[in-house]
Amino acid sequence: MTLSITARTRVFALVGDPVAHSSSPTIQNAAMNDLGLDGVYVALQAKPEEMIGFVRGLAMSGGGGNITLPHKEKAATVVDVRSEAVKRTGACNTFWYEDGKIHGDNTDVEGFARALAEFLGKGPEGQKILVLGAGGAARACLVALMDGGVEEVHLLNRSRDRARVVARRIGGAKVRVLDDAKDASGQSYDLVVNTTRLGLEPGDPLPFDLSQLGRAGAVLDVVYLSRPTPFVEAARDLGIRATDGLEMLVQQGAVSFERWWGERPSLEVMRESARAHSES
Ligand code: NAP
Repeated sequence: MTLSITARTRVFALVGDPVAHSSSPTIQNAAMNDLGLDGVYVALQAKPEEMIGFVRGLAMSGGGGNITLPHKEKAATVVDVRSEAVKRTGACNTFWYEDGKIHGDNTDVEGFARALAEFLGKGPEGQKILVLGAGGAARACLVALMDGGVEEVHLLNRSRDRARVVARRIGGAKVRVLDDAKDASGQSYDLVVNTTRLGLEPGDPLPFDLSQLGRAGAVLDVVYLSRPTPFVEAARDLGIRATDGLEMLVQQGAVSFERWWGERPSLEVMRESARAHSES
């Protein structure tokens, strides 16, 4: 059922560039409709200078939204109140208006933590984990792993300097930056997480050769556009339990929803619409 739009309808938007491929409007509208909430969620393509106006305008009108690439870092400087997750990752993916101020959060952190718990049936406490990548998704993943009590993280990224900056900022002594993929050879990890963009475009190489490891307990690929992703397929071929980023997408969307509406959406409704969108 689609709700009618009235003068009281709250307007939410995904603001980014590009946004046309996004499943967030499908997922969020399904969740709002399910609970009978008077809101609508659209996608707005915006250049950096336009993003600021959209964020402030949508929030001040009583709505809010999400920020995606390439604006998450800039958005962290636009909101009035930054959550701990925004401060620690330097990125904002969710905004809304509350108590006369524009609030910002990075729900990728909690979304990753919830998706990991759903996948493993427990948190990362005491685990040794290999994280591939050092961009925005990696920062969210690292904050979640640190808060979850991870034992040790090895961080491997194409640009080593970027990995070093991220490790210093977030991981401290628990994170070791690997110079090269060969440094992981023979190592055993409870979990390997891919946060690089590899797997987004057809023909991308795999982000890492899992067969060189002594053991990989499980693989989580935060990429979700093609299902299963090539990295998930490669892991399964080696008999390693693996999942893609769809659950993280749903969970981070659910946390955003909670910030805007103060109530929990149906994860099943969100999952179902996310799956349908990815197959369309
Ligand atoms: P980002 O900040 O642009 O970072 C991209 C990362 O990919 C960097 O580590 C980059 O390495 C690496 N990379 C890019 N091209 C590469 C190549 N050719 N070879 C090796 N490494 C390469 O992007 P992001 O925001 O972190 O997003 C990364 C992925 O996570 C995307 O696929 C995105 O869709 C996904 N994501 C999923 C969710 C979810 O809810 N499931 C949430 C957020 C993001 P360098 O530092 O060397 O450039």
